[in-house]
Amino acid sequence: MVNIILFGAPGAGKGTQALLLAEKFELTHLSTGEMLRNEIDSGSWLGQQAKSIITRGELVSDELVIDMIGDQITRHPHAKGFIFDGFPRTQVQARELDRLLQEKNMQITALIELEVDTNELTCRLLKRGESSGRSDDSSIEVIKKRIEVYNRQTASIIGYYQTQNKYFPVNGLGSIKDISERLNKQVRHFLP
Ligand code: AMP
Repeated sequence: MVNIILFGAPGAGKGTQALLLAEKFELTHLSTGEMLRNEIDSGSWLGQQAKSIITRGELVSDELVIDMIGDQITRHPHAKGFIFDGFPRTQVQARELDRLLQEKNMQITALIELEVDTNELTCRLLKRGESSGRSDDSSIEVIKKRIEVYNRQTASIIGYYQTQNKYFPVNGLGSIKDISERLNKQVRHFLP
């Protein structure tokens, strides 16, 4: 079983590449951003709480996303492995993910970071905002805020995985196909 965290700043390409990896290696794709957007679209109480936070470019509470991920792990008892996209984003989430997996005799295999510089991230997000309709991609202020939140609250979790020799950076620049091939090559190393 391989359990991969696909990591990177907003706009690094996690969503696109996570879907490709999930298909190629038959992994169950879990995206907390997508789960939250579904909650917003359904008009649920949870979605209403999350909406203003997401629109501001800030992080929703650790408790909320940990509960959602725990629930999804439990709902997929026969998964061949998971690909986590957009989770964990804080030290607390990283530790809780370990705990949730340990309860089921599983563990994280690797955190793969898609490395993309800030200028490129900003360009990609502005472009995505033109077509995605995502409120958090539509203004330069919110994009800057999300990158700042990533640098302040999220980037440091790399260290948590580095000390366990589970950190693998991959160049996130180039075509979707080129990046996908780099990722496939990396993931193949983890297969039995
Ligand atoms: P994403 O689609 O992963 O970029 O997530 C969109 C937004 O959802 C983020 O900017 C956060 O506001 C919220 N979000 C998604 N995942 C998390 C998480 N693991 N922890 C806190 N907030 C999250």
